[in-house]
Amino acid sequence: AVVTSKKTPTRVRVAVRLRPFMDREDKEGVKEQRACVRGLDSQSLEIVNWRNQLETMHYQFDAFYGTESTQREVYTGSVYPILSNLLTGQNASVFAYGPTGAGKTHTMLGNPAQPGIIPRAVRDLLQMARAASGSSPDENWTFSISMSYVEIYQEKVMDLLEPKNKDLPIREDKDHKILIPGLTQKTITTFADFDEHFIQASQNRTVACTKLNDRSSRSHAVLLIKVQKSQQVIPFRQFTGKLYLIDLAGSEDNRRTGNQGIRLKESGAINSSLFTLSKVVDALNQGLPRIPYRDSKLTRLLQDSLGGSAHSVMIANIAPGEKCYFDTLTALNFAAKSKQV
Ligand code: ADP
Ligand code: MG
Repeated sequence: AVVTSKKTPTRVRVAVRLRPFMDREDKEGVKEQRACVRGLDSQSLEIVNWRNQLETMHYQFDAFYGTESTQREVYTGSVYPILSNLLTGQNASVFAYGPTGAGKTHTMLGNPAQPGIIPRAVRDLLQMARAASGSSPDENWTFSISMSYVEIYQEKVMDLLEPKNKDLPIREDKDHKILIPGLTQKTITTFADFDEHFIQASQNRTVACTKLNDRSSRSHAVLLIKVQKSQQVIPFRQFTGKLYLIDLAGSEDNRRTGNQGIRLKESGAINSSLFTLSKVVDALNQGLPRIPYRDSKLTRLLQDSLGGSAHSVMIANIAPGEKCYFDTLTALNFAAKSKQV
């Protein structure tokens, strides 16, 4: 008899990262700006509303990374532990959420001196795939890794590795796997391969961005790393694990910042896809029967990699200053809501 264990879907883990004050913030005549967020321990923080000092809210998450946290700590604590699942054909996703300027790109990408999650994960996956290839004598598996990179802007999926593909469709196959027909996919065997394609794609994104100021904070940047595991002997089985690494659009409320016209329309589209993301995470964590994946391109794309057997981590990035109080509170409430079981 086959014993089946009733598998509870993996919960979306939620981490919060607080960035330090930047030099600029101290110099621009806002020196007296107080911090409104204070870390308490490795999982919790409090936020003070200085207009009403009695109003202090306390939050707890799976992890809290304070102003002194390093890129390595965030990566080792929240991302590295899920990577091994990719080699067994499972899917995973990592999101950076939060208002513009709060540290999403720093966390996901970083810079050469302080590399973020993306370069670290790519290096480690390449290394793990090399180490695992052919290591099992009776099953003789090989691993190959590929990348795709898209931007979701105004509910359109754009291929950053082939800018001609401006509005790619999203489909689901009979095994409920999500596919993007026509999407460019590049095999990478070394980190240099990755870097070359990634730089090219980032340039394509920048070109599009300058045409419309600040588009990068209004679109979702979605990097997909696929790990394909192939058996070299009969029966030639194949598994694919997908890892999505996502720098989300800014979560700030543009009604308050006074954006009008096209900006307002855009922020509407963004807010609704971030809103759908929160509904999806919420529905997953509450074990609801219907998950509204189809309500936005982003969640539709992530359907097979968020919830179910997939491993997901959301990192909410926040800034310390009291000037950011409302955006920070919104981000914390989003994160806290996502965490509820
Ligand atoms: P976002 O992508 O959310 O708009 P960025 O990642 O661009 O924000 O961060 C805004 C600025 O703050 C950048 O100059 C970035 O280098 C800096 N920054 C963000 N997080 C940190 C951090 N943890 N430590 C040091 N600098 C940071
Ligand atoms: Mg950014």
